[in-house]
Amino acid sequence: MAKVAVVGAGFVGLSSAYWLMQDGHDVTVFDPQGVGANTGGASYGNAGTFANYACIPVNNPSVFRDLPRYLLSSQSPLRVRWSYLPMLAPWLAQFLWHSTPSRYTHSATALAALLGRAQDGYTAMVQQAGLASFIRQKECLYLYSGAAAFKASQGTLALRESLGVPTRVVDRQEVQALEPQLNPLFDRGVLFPGSWHLTDPAGFLMSLSAWLARGGMQLRAEAVRTLSPQAQHVVVDSTSGPEAYDHVAICAGAFSRGLAAQCGDKVPLDTERGYHLLYPGVSDLISRPVGWAERGFYMTPMARGIRVAGTVELAGLNTRKHPGLLQLLTHSSQRAIHGLGTPTEQWLGYRPTLPDGLPVLGRASKSARVIYAFGHQHIGLTLGGLSGTVVADLVAGRSSTMDLGPYAASRFR
Ligand SMILES: Cc1cc2nc3c(=O)[nH]c(=O)nc-3n(C[C@H](O)[C@H](O)[C@H](O)COP(=O)(O)OP(=O)(O)OC[C@H]3O[C@@H](n4cnc5c(N)ncnc54)[C@H](O)[C@@H]3O)c2cc1C
Repeated sequence: MAKVAVVGAGFVGLSSAYWLMQDGHDVTVFDPQGVGANTGGASYGNAGTFANYACIPVNNPSVFRDLPRYLLSSQSPLRVRWSYLPMLAPWLAQFLWHSTPSRYTHSATALAALLGRAQDGYTAMVQQAGLASFIRQKECLYLYSGAAAFKASQGTLALRESLGVPTRVVDRQEVQALEPQLNPLFDRGVLFPGSWHLTDPAGFLMSLSAWLARGGMQLRAEAVRTLSPQAQHVVVDSTSGPEAYDHVAICAGAFSRGLAAQCGDKVPLDTERGYHLLYPGVSDLISRPVGWAERGFYMTPMARGIRVAGTVELAGLNTRKHPGLLQLLTHSSQRAIHGLGTPTEQWLGYRPTLPDGLPVLGRASKSARVIYAFGHQHIGLTLGGLSGTVVADLVAGRSSTMDLGPYAASRFR
């Protein structure tokens, strides 16, 4: 049995704690925000979809065509804060470099390899920790309001199918039959069989954490300041002082870059900020997550109401919200669904994103005792469980059945 520290208590960190404890390790999770807090990371406020179909990275060849329009349109779900551009430039340059057809196909293939096994990371956890009540088995529906956007999506649809993602195209009539409260704006839709969603992502994590705590996990509401890998252990210096651990897993989402640098890896991690709104008490207006493709957001029926979540803002890790994106989410959702009312909650979260759209999963350069599991961009809920199995395999020294090469931090050297 090893003494293992996990940095971060989002989907990736707590799933890692679960799988490490399955191997009998003594696990301490550090997070200054505790679990399920509505600040800090991305896990609290996401759209709740288990999106095992989402193998199309944001870095794709269409950005060269679409970027100017996105940056200039008031309807655009992508915004850049111009004052952040000098800090963003190196990330952006690499992002464009990874958007060529061959590099994009490489990223999509490597994402599909993870997504195809994503369910394996959750099945036992959900059953053992009694989390099934948070899950609704209703496949997600992507919607297209314009024929041009649907036509433009044909390439990505074909790539998904070639990578083993099941899809079913539905026409205007079937969209209305599936979700009658949608206003008749949508020409086409795509269903993703096998996907599901959570009715309360933070509730799921809080229940998992409580179950893990009953099994012996320690949760410390402290920030890890430094990591010092040594030959026989790693010193974790948190707000309560230094302590030695046999292994450390860095699962701090968009906040992982500095800690990885201390362990020998300069990774170009930045954040794609995203937002959500909540329309309370109206969740029965839709039966499944519906995503409006052109507007870049989902509307998900959750326990407290319909959560409208999405958009991308490139503006770093500060807390200033973008009023234009919040307005876009409000107006677009009210246009899409009849009878929503007025939103009551506005949340900003930080998706952790590398320029090639792939997470970092693997060992640190400086020490095999430090494991990385961060950078899950738009699909960290979906890949949290599986990433936890990777962390546990690496700590145990088990040879993984997956080729971790595409996800190594060293790819950025
Ligand atoms: C609007 C929006 C919608 C989304 N929708 C979906 C979706 O439908 N499906 C999906 O799969 N994904 C979705 N995502 C993405 C998903 O939420 C993230 O990929 C995922 O939450 C990342 O999980 P994580 O555990 O890596 O990081 P986080 O959830 O960000 O957790 C990292 C934690 O590390 C802690 N931390 C930071 N620094 C330190 C430190 N020094 N010491 C200790 N702790 C530290 C933070 O407090 C934080 O709690 C969405 C994201 C957004 C923003």
